Amino acid sequence: MKTLFQKIADREIPVKFVFEDELCFAIEDINPQAPVHVLVIPKRVVARLGVAEESDAALLGHLLVVAGKIARERGIDATGFRTVVNSGRDAGETVPHLHVHLLGGRALGWPPG
Ligand code: AMP
Repeated sequence: MKTLFQKIADREIPVKFVFEDELCFAIEDINPQAPVHVLVIPKRVVARLGVAEESDAALLGHLLVVAGKIARERGIDATGFRTVVNSGRDAGETVPHLHVHLLGGRALGWPPG
């Protein structure tokens, strides 16, 4: 069974990519929580951080570097932004295919809800 994000990666669900390379892609979140809300998603499935292993380290690091690049492109690097990886039920994970939320463009509250 493919995850929702694998179906998007395979173009089975038409979603505009805002970034793509050999390891990952990025899309606008369908339910944005901030003026900038982009999802950076690896093409290889890691279900969540709770099952990530040392062999996933380079891929996970790459997702953060890409998130930073997109933040610069969107002009939110100076004002600030947040990256979030929800892992598991209590964090509100809804898609079991690890992804980095990039949020910015407004002041973000802390602590998160
Ligand atoms: P999470 O709750 O951390 O697993 O994040 C899943 C995110 O995927 C949510 O913020 C959803 O709004 C988003 N989402 C679900 N379906 C789509 C879709 N078809 N296109 C873009 N974002 C989506």
